[in-house]
Amino acid sequence: MKTAVYPGSFDPITNGHLDIIIRAANIFDRLVVAVLNNSSKTPLFTVEERVELIRDSIPKVPGCEIEVTSFDGLLADFAQSIGATTVIKGLRAVSDFEYEFQMALANRKINHRLDTAFLMTSERYMYLSSSLVRDLGRYGGDISDFVPLKIQKRVIDKLRK
Ligand code: ADP
Repeated sequence: MKTAVYPGSFDPITNGHLDIIIRAANIFDRLVVAVLNNSSKTPLFTVEERVELIRDSIPKVPGCEIEVTSFDGLLADFAQSIGATTVIKGLRAVSDFEYEFQMALANRKINHRLDTAFLMTSERYMYLSSSLVRDLGRYGGDISDFVPLKIQKRVIDKLRK
């Protein structure tokens, strides 16, 4: 069974993330979407809320078992603990590449059996990020094209608080 891990902040999950999740689920037998518990950042949603929003957004993909969880510490160690041999990363623009390239090599240095697979986003999500959703939503902008339908109300309620 081929397991991949898709790590990120997901604060909140966007349609860009969802696009990558579905693409990855069509390739791997098991996909673990892992919310990074990063104590140095002050997120909008708690880790538990982010996990729940992801669980409520993802569709069933035949042939792939999708799990959602959180982790802290090193991604390479977490990947090993769940039996993942591949890290999934979404690439939006060239600007994502340099940082991701560095991270991929660092992860492989820590765990030499761990590879990173970059999946290209759909062009309609190229400019989409969680921070764009947060900024737009906070000032009353329309985020309906950017956030999965099932969680839009919860995201808007939180942003307007
Ligand atoms: P962000 O806060 O920038 O949205 P995350 O840390 O939540 O980023 O992102 C997790 C992963 O998802 C990263 O690999 C990132 O490149 C990827 N990603 C984020 N948004 C998109 C998108 N619109 N299209 C493709 N990949 C994306």
